[in-house]
Amino acid sequence: MQIQPFSVNDGEGIRTNIFMAGCPLRCRWCSNPEGFEQKKLMGWHKRKCIGCGACTAVCPQGIGIDLNAGRDRCTACGACADACPEEARTRMVTLMDADDVIREVLKHRLFFSYSGGGVTFSGGEATSQPEFLDYLSRELYDAGCSIDLESCGYFDFELVRPSLERMDLIFMDLKHMDPAVHKEFTGVSNERILENIARLVTLGRPAENGAAGHGAPETVIRIPVIGGVNNSEENIAASAAYVHDVLPAAKMELLPYHSLGRIKYEAIGMPFDQEGFYTPDKEEMKKLRGIAAAQGVEIVDYR
Ligand code: SF4
Ligand code: SF4
Repeated sequence: MQIQPFSVNDGEGIRTNIFMAGCPLRCRWCSNPEGFEQKKLMGWHKRKCIGCGACTAVCPQGIGIDLNAGRDRCTACGACADACPEEARTRMVTLMDADDVIREVLKHRLFFSYSGGGVTFSGGEATSQPEFLDYLSRELYDAGCSIDLESCGYFDFELVRPSLERMDLIFMDLKHMDPAVHKEFTGVSNERILENIARLVTLGRPAENGAAGHGAPETVIRIPVIGGVNNSEENIAASAAYVHDVLPAAKMELLPYHSLGRIKYEAIGMPFDQEGFYTPDKEEMKKLRGIAAAQGVEIVDYR
């Protein structure tokens, strides 16, 4: 979806985020809807468009200025994005070769070494492309980069284990403790996610048979706090109690909901259906962090 340099909210130091498309969840509050599917995707930012028609003139599919009206015919060839003088047509998801991704992120290496930063895999859901993640994480690990992962937690743990073992820090989401509510708002139940959080404790490898070992990654379990969905004191306390029980070394981060993704929904012609959600204010967030901390979990804040 994007290679985003200079991120300071997704791990230590200055980091480059690699947003990888494809996600098994459909969280109703998602702010990156372009990453739902693993396919090339174009966007049209109506607010930036001056109606010059340069996009239409080059489109091999004969699609008009309103991309969303002809989206079913769009092959995401990108010609309109190259022609648009206002960046109103943009590539939202592109295909990239793994070695090109590595070359691109290593351009920022100087920032990593001075700030203690590195690369963070994000999405969409980075584990939904397990082979790509395995290759990228191996190459960057061997290049001496710090690598972190942000994940929804819904993946085949053993398939992804080699990548997980290379991480310095893993952020994993826990969105609701009630399986039915979790399914209602994300499209999947939470059992697999709860299991995978518990399995994080198995990461790390002692040196054996001449092969070097390495320590376990640090872990931060994140709750995106969505007002009206998962912000009850009971849910936050139960989430923190679970994390403390199965993964005592884990820290937790509580992030308030935001609706900044609206603009992306418009760009890809997808309905923005986040009625009823609200952003908990500072007081409420402070209280909820206190409730989580009371379960014995250390609370961190990377924002
Ligand atoms: S990406 Fe290609 S096919 Fe799609 S609207 Fe632009 S020019 Fe037309
Ligand atoms: S080229 Fe860009 S600014 Fe011009 S009509 Fe198309 S989208 Fe709008």
